[in-house]
Order: sequence, then C-alpha cells, then structure tokens
Amino acid sequence: MTRRLLFLVSLIALLGSLPSTALAAQPVFTPGAPGVGDPYFPLDGNGGYDVAHYDLALAYDPDTDELTGVATINAKATQSLSSFDLDFVGLDLESLTVDGSSVPTSRDGQELTVSPPNGIKTGTKFTVVAAYSGVPQTLDEFGGSGFFHTDDGAIIMGEPHGAATWFPANDHPRDKASFTFHITEPAALQVVANGALKGQVTNGGETTWTWDSPEPMATYLAFMAIGHFDIHAYQANGIKFWDAVDPSLDFDAPAITTIDGARFLYSQMADGSYKRVTHLIDVPPGGARISFKINRDTEQDWDFVFVESRTAGGDDWTTLPDANGHTTQNVGTCPYNYQGQNPFLEHYLTPVLIDPGDPSTTDDDFYSCDPTGSSGEWNAATGTGNGWEDWQIELANATASPIQKEISIAYASDPAVQWNGVAIDAVVVSTGQGTTSFEEDADPLDGWVIQPDPPEGSPPNANTWTFADSVAPRPGRGFGARQSLDLGPDVLAYETTRFGPYPFATGGGVVDNLVVFFALENQTRPTYSPFFFGPDGPTDFVIVHELAHQWYGDSLSVDTWQYTWLNEGFATYAEWLWSEDHDQGSAEDNYDFWAENVPPDDPFWNLAIGDPGPDHFFDGEIYVRGALTLHALRREVGDKQFFQILKTWATSQRGETVTTAEFIALAEKISKKDLDPLFSMWLGSGYPDFGLAAPAARSKLQGPKHAPAASRDLIRRLHDRQGMPFRNPGTLRTAKPTN
Ligand SMILES: [Zn+2]
Repeated sequence: MTRRLLFLVSLIALLGSLPSTALAAQPVFTPGAPGVGDPYFPLDGNGGYDVAHYDLALAYDPDTDELTGVATINAKATQSLSSFDLDFVGLDLESLTVDGSSVPTSRDGQELTVSPPNGIKTGTKFTVVAAYSGVPQTLDEFGGSGFFHTDDGAIIMGEPHGAATWFPANDHPRDKASFTFHITEPAALQVVANGALKGQVTNGGETTWTWDSPEPMATYLAFMAIGHFDIHAYQANGIKFWDAVDPSLDFDAPAITTIDGARFLYSQMADGSYKRVTHLIDVPPGGARISFKINRDTEQDWDFVFVESRTAGGDDWTTLPDANGHTTQNVGTCPYNYQGQNPFLEHYLTPVLIDPGDPSTTDDDFYSCDPTGSSGEWNAATGTGNGWEDWQIELANATASPIQKEISIAYASDPAVQWNGVAIDAVVVSTGQGTTSFEEDADPLDGWVIQPDPPEGSPPNANTWTFADSVAPRPGRGFGARQSLDLGPDVLAYETTRFGPYPFATGGGVVDNLVVFFALENQTRPTYSPFFFGPDGPTDFVIVHELAHQWYGDSLSVDTWQYTWLNEGFATYAEWLWSEDHDQGSAEDNYDFWAENVPPDDPFWNLAIGDPGPDHFFDGEIYVRGALTLHALRREVGDKQFFQILKTWATSQRGETVTTAEFIALAEKISKKDLDPLFSMWLGSGYPDFGLAAPAARSKLQGPKHAPAASRDLIRRLHDRQGMPFRNPGTLRTAKPTN
C-alpha cells in the first residue's frame, strides 16, 4: 500500500463514519430571483426571502428635496441565497450591512443585488441595514406615482411600485410586512404615515415622528406625508383615527382690501351674469390710455373679466388687451352659446363643435371657441390674479381728429360656481375723463355708468357692480375635505356591516395641497386629491371607495397586478351599495345606467378586465365593469348569498393575496352554481348580456348628467382615464358643480 493509497483509504473511512445526513444537507446557494414572478412587472419584488418588518428612519429637507434614510429590514431566507435583490430606484446607496457586516452590492436598473460572502442558509432570519440619500423621483406612469414633492414637503402615493423610490424594498404585494417609521422634520412641519402615532420628540428645532403600522402591509401602501397639516386625532367605534388636511386648502382666494382710498368698485357674485361698467371717452389723435388696478377671482376657464370697446353708437365691438399681459386669448372651456348663456360674446368668440359625441343626442356635444367673433376678438383674464394687478389699456386713434369710444370693464360668468368676482380701483385715464377711485364724494363714479342690464340675450343680472371696502376670503376645498374625512367612522361602520370586521386598528385620511387627480388607499390612511372636494359640504363616494379598499386591496391584496378588478371593482361597488342604503340610487339603477348609455359597439367593452395587461390595469373599465361584474353576480345568486360571498371573501382571505380563480371558487362554493360562464363573460372582452327586460335598447340614452349620483361622481373622478366613455368635463361640470 502506498502512502497515497493509505491516505485515500483513511479518507473513505473517515467519510463513512460521518452521519449520512451531513452531506445531504449541504445547502446549494443560489441567487434569489430578481422578480417575484408578476408577468406584468417581471422585475417587481424579488425571490428567495420574505420580509417581516421594515424600520425606516428618514429625514427629508423640503428646501433641497433631499431624503436621507436608514432602512432596517428584517427578513427570512426562503432558499439558500448566494445573493438576493432589493428593489431600489434612483437614490444613492451609502452603506449596506447584513447582520452587522458590510457586504458587496451592485446595481442594475431597479435591482440592488446584495451578495453576502458566505450566503444565507434557507430558513435563516437576517437583518439588512441600508443607509442612503438623494432626491426621490416621481415616476412618470399612471398619472404620476411614487414620491411627490410639494410646496411645503412631500407625499407618497406608491401604486403600483413606488416604494422603491424612497426605500429599498421587496416591492410587490406578495411580500407584506409590518412597518415602523421614524421621520425627522423641522418642528414647524407635521408628519403623517400609516398606523398609529407612537411618539413625537423635539430636539434642536427638529421633531422625530414615530408611526407604527403593525398589520402586514403591501409596500406600495406604505406612505408618509410631510408638510403643514391640521391633524385631527380621535377615536370612534374602537378605532383610532388620524385625519390630516393641509390648511392652505382652507381659502382659495384671499380677502380683498382697498388699495386706493376707502373703497373700490366690486362686481359682487351671481350665477349667469354679464356686468358692465361703462364710460364714453374722447380719444384724441395719437390715442389715450386707461390704467386701473384690478383684483380678480373668477372661476378658472368658466368666468372672465375683459375690457370691451366700440366706437360710440357703432357696431365695431371688440375687446382690448392689457398691455401688461394679464389678458390672453385663452377661451377656457368656452361655455357660451351652447348653454344659451351670454350670446353677445359671439361678437368676440365663435363656438366650434369639436366633438359631437353620440349623434342621437346633443347632450354630449362638446364645444370650444375660436378667439375671434362677428365683429372683434377675444382678450380676457380668467382665474385668480395675484392680488391687485396693474392693467393698462391703450385706446388707439390713428386719425387726425378726436373719436369717441365707449369703453366697458365687464365680468361675464356662467350659470354655476361663482368665485369672489372682480374689484376695480384707482382708474386713471390719460385725458382725465373717468379718472376715479370710487370714493364717497359728490360723484363717486366720475362719469362711469353701471349698466343695470346685461347685453341682449343674457338672463337678467341678479346683482351688479357696487361699492365695497372689503371682500371676505373665498372658502376652499379644505372645508369640504374636513367634512368628508369626518364621514370616516360612519363609512367604516357601514362597510363593516357589509364586509365584516374592519381589518386594522387605525384609520383616517390625508388631503394635501397637490395637483393630482386621484386618491390612493394607503393602508389605514388613504390620500385624496383636493379636487375631489368643494368648499361646501362633504363628498361621500370617494371616501366610501377608499375605505372599502381597506378590505379589498389592502387587507386582501392582488396576487399579481392582473387582478386589479378585485380592488377597483369592489371599491366601486361599495359606492353603489352606500348609494343604495342612503337613498341616492340603487346598485340596480347604476347597473341600468351603464347598460342603457354605453352602446354595445363602444370600445368601453373591449378590454378584458380580468387580464387587462400592464398598460391598462388602472383604466376606467376596471372600475365600472368590475362593479357591473359584481352586480351581475348579485343578480345571479341573490342578495343573501351575494352578501355572504362579499363578507366571507374579506374575512377568509384577511391579510392574504388573492386571485380571480379564488374568488370564483368561493362564489361557487357558497352559491353551489357553476359561475365560470358568468365571470368569463363579464371579465372578458365584448358586450356582456345584462339580462335586462329591455336589453340595451338605448331608449333611455341620456348622457352622464342623468346618471345616478354614484356613477356621476365616478365619471367625474375618472373622466381623464383611458376607457371612460363619457369624457366631456363640461357636461359633468354642469351636472354637478361641486368643484
Ligand atoms: Zn380604487
């Protein structure tokens, strides 16, 4: 036996003496998958581990927009990992440790790959600590998503995968986790996040806010809002609520106070008016000039202020531009003429039918205007000015002799929604004729004449120009927003009767001053576009929708993004149920409306809402046809079983991710019916059989302004989405002038 052979024999003997399991258990370490397996977004989420908790220590500087953060992630390996990925977009990674040791990382697009030198054995719990900084980006998709920088802070609306823009994440609903936030901001600002406020510690002019969200949450539902907020904390029905409204939404226009002397000329407010104040002015050869100060708050794109001119007694009507640039040829929504309102404006504007809509009705005809009319052109201002503006109107006279011009300062408004109106002061005419600041003397108008009547064709003015020394500020959306958020406890109580126990310990909502046109169901604390609210009274349907998502969307999350109808169809149907139980039209009324008003050949029926594809899973059809699908199910199985299905679905799948197949299986189990044909028809492409006595006869085709309240509100909220059949904001605005 050579020494070498002896060595081999010894080695074999040694190996033979080891327990046989030791070799078999030697793990194979492989990289975790870069995606969780969602066909719509193959790189979203990651494989090989499961996150239990995110602890996010963050500071955001509203001046520089920079975020600095330390994310501590507790996870457990579900395979033996040679490396694993986190989703992380844009920000700079400064350091990363796994269980306290610094480890190599690399980045490729949204994938941050972490490679612990010894790997991580399957079943092992591990902790990642990542320090990072940078200016978070707003994703340019689905109308903007992710991290929004606001005038005084930031707010996050992360659906479907915006979490990765502000912390390293396993960014897919399949990996839910609990969250703790420690967010440090200047003490003058407020911070709101998901869950319960656990602490507020101020140190050196900065406050650290700790929010805790113990229930498992999809990463896209994690959010924070930083800025000036009035926070209303209270408890109702055993649930702790935190509502937050940006106080800058309280007033949409400031008070007007006088700028010259003790008072000014004020238009007052009135629906559907055309108010003129007029002066005859002798214009010498070479021309003259009228200067005045104006403080205007006219409904943007619907109401206008302008300076009219004609040769005294003549027909050469036109409008004159402000030499300082406050007037433009913007026609706004051109609400004139087709509403029979202020037809005199056709001297300056020509209505143009740009979308006739359905040929059998004029209800949905959509007009714009050209900025020239029968005798002159359009120069006007709309919206809210910046305090007192200096306007300067040039009166031309190219002839060798004086001419007399009739000059009117005019304010024309449409039949709904009045803002504060128009104030005029410090009029100076270069010839001296008509110079005035409307003071209380022998001749307060100094030759100006307030016209009692509007031009021919307009309805009578309910009021007209008068003298005033102040105008109160105009209440803003904040008033309606606060009253709407106050509905939260009642809405949750109602939804609990329909969907079963509320799945979370806390509730509330956030309304920031931000130009977005959607809401998002952030877990326990949805965020709402301010444009869903008006200055008077609450708005209920959008609150009902977002709070219904707490069951359907948040507690039950989509298993992949194919299944958004399980979120949006249910939340929309919740609006119809609320409507039915609050005497605003039954779910059947809403079902009938869509059956009767969207013809079978409309593209609205084309999208397969059960698998709409990655570019269409937030389209309008998902909402409306998703709700119609549920109503069709209700008609098929009856009320008793239908509501049992809704409740069982929410309670049996609480905290889970869900698929359409699971919902159909549950509905079939409870109803003991084969429902595949029904769901294939309603979730697929093509016009469904509504099963109505007079199916889609279109005899009642009436357009959105005749829709039941819940559908009308939905159309208004979704009108800029792809797929919506009613897209005429003018018609909707007239139907429901809430904002
Ligand atoms: Zn929704």
